[in-house]
Amino acid sequence: MSFWGKPKYTLVRIARKRDMPSGLWSKCPSCGEIVFRKKIEENLKVCSKCEYHFTLRAAERIRLTVDKGSFQEMDKHILSLDHLNFQGPKSYKEKLKEEREKTKMNDAVITGKAKINSLDLIIGVTDSQFMMGSMGCVLGEKITRAAERAVEERLPLVVISGSGGGARMQEGMFSLMQMAKTSGALGRLKVENLPYISVLTDPTMAGVLASFASLGDVLIAEPRALIGFTGPRVIEQTIRQKLPKGFQTSEFLLEHGLIDMIVHRQDLKDTLSSLIGYFT
Ligand SMILES: [Zn+2]
Repeated sequence: MSFWGKPKYTLVRIARKRDMPSGLWSKCPSCGEIVFRKKIEENLKVCSKCEYHFTLRAAERIRLTVDKGSFQEMDKHILSLDHLNFQGPKSYKEKLKEEREKTKMNDAVITGKAKINSLDLIIGVTDSQFMMGSMGCVLGEKITRAAERAVEERLPLVVISGSGGGARMQEGMFSLMQMAKTSGALGRLKVENLPYISVLTDPTMAGVLASFASLGDVLIAEPRALIGFTGPRVIEQTIRQKLPKGFQTSEFLLEHGLIDMIVHRQDLKDTLSSLIGYFT
């Protein structure tokens, strides 16, 4: 075919959606890049293009953070009671049942004894997939027991928070009481000169931030995590002012002195073991 006779466009056959196996690709919520899911997982669930840290489930976090085979779970079978007989669009009992089936967890936190680079510690990790990681009686009780176990065994405590839900409204005052209870238990570590390291991941908000998550001797955050009390949208609507750029991100809070360091996920394990080694 002569040059002038060539068609203007080249037809490219694109695989139809149904030809692509589902679940193989993920879209980065930060840069919009479509990434091969296996590749993200190999990279500890961090986007290789923009370094966005995808949310981790509590079990994944434990697997990536502690020494293989060292984790012994504690207080696995504590369950929430519906003290208030809470009725919303769904009853609290129904909601709990659904969340337990969906997440295969009894509540929004896993605690246990483990080792990081051969150093013993007590660790707790909240899971934002279970009712947004909100703190009810079970989460409060398990963090309290973890702190008490740390005192008993004279071990450091690490809590990794990813709780966008704050205090769990379905448990009303019982939930708010956990703020004081966890804070009191952590106070005992201070009296005993035992280190408590708090790691804030995206998102850590409200009653969780206002209690155990902000009480660490060292506060570490993952890059670009949302950390705050009330969400930025609600604050803007209330005070009718524009908030500064990057408000309530790890970077903003580091600059303003609320947190001590921002640590990339791949450096977290070594940073924790260095700090534990230094304190103990
Ligand atoms: Zn990205």
